[in-house]
Amino acid sequence: MSNYGIAIHGGAGTILKSTMTPEKEAAYTQALADAIYAGEAVLKNGGAALDAVELAIVSLENNPLFNAGKGAVFTHTGKHEMDACIMNGKDLSAGAVAGVSNIKNPISLSRAVMEKSDHVFLAGLGALDFAKKVNAKFEDDEYFFVQMRYEQLQMALKSDSMILDHTEDTFEKGEKKFGTVGAVAIDIHGNLAGGTSTGGMTNKNYGRVGDTPMVGAGTYANNNTCAISCTGHGEFFIRSVVAYDISCLMEYKGLSLKEACDIVVMDKLVKIGGEGGLIAIDKFGNIELPFNSEGMYRAKKTFGSDVFIGIYK
Ligand code: ASP
Repeated sequence: MSNYGIAIHGGAGTILKSTMTPEKEAAYTQALADAIYAGEAVLKNGGAALDAVELAIVSLENNPLFNAGKGAVFTHTGKHEMDACIMNGKDLSAGAVAGVSNIKNPISLSRAVMEKSDHVFLAGLGALDFAKKVNAKFEDDEYFFVQMRYEQLQMALKSDSMILDHTEDTFEKGEKKFGTVGAVAIDIHGNLAGGTSTGGMTNKNYGRVGDTPMVGAGTYANNNTCAISCTGHGEFFIRSVVAYDISCLMEYKGLSLKEACDIVVMDKLVKIGGEGGLIAIDKFGNIELPFNSEGMYRAKKTFGSDVFIGIYK
């Protein structure tokens, strides 16, 4: 393998050109470009897929446009509870955190769980204690206050139901957007890695955990098959064990990445009502960006090709 590749996403859902302003579109495009180039810079210099994935996700977490890190959505009680996971396809090592507050970059904390603890998954207060031990960067509540997200919570609260959206003015119309972020990559050494980070869903119950931090549901990487990062209505992605299902279809049934993605995203998920999408890269560097929603913020870049940035169908 003398090649490398990286793909990222910034969430899927009801993303329509008709409701997008040129300014907003430009801002999202720029944010996606910044993140993909941050990841590519690592790979170009012979760096590890794991580092590329972490750096690309940190870039997205630091941008208030996305529902992760700084832009994380509000829970029902007006707090931020973030989930993240990172996985190394080389040895199937993984780290994840769930329900963490005030952590600037949950993806880096999940990597610390992987590399500096005996565990795979830490949640809540235990994860925060661990974060202090490894000197993770904390931010106060003010850092995570984004006016648009607050207004989304007010709208969701008014509708008196658990609203899964985090879009601005479309709750009443039943439109949905999931702004989770993720990255998958293969480095020149043939190693795959994947990671995902999220604030979850606006107005979610406190303590609710989505698919994002669950190995095999929202995130997975295995050098024998592929690396996957998902975005969408987490409950359905958990029940469908989406990321691992794709890997299994490749490993046990010999399907291509595209065939496996099509079955899981466009058929199995659709049949149970699971809206969303994912980014996937296989051990040959093939990239798939399938989604069954109206749109998905996404980008990809491989060695020797131009960057691709997409938003709509
Ligand atoms: N999958 C995430 C969750 O359920 C939401 C998203 O993709 O935005 O927490």
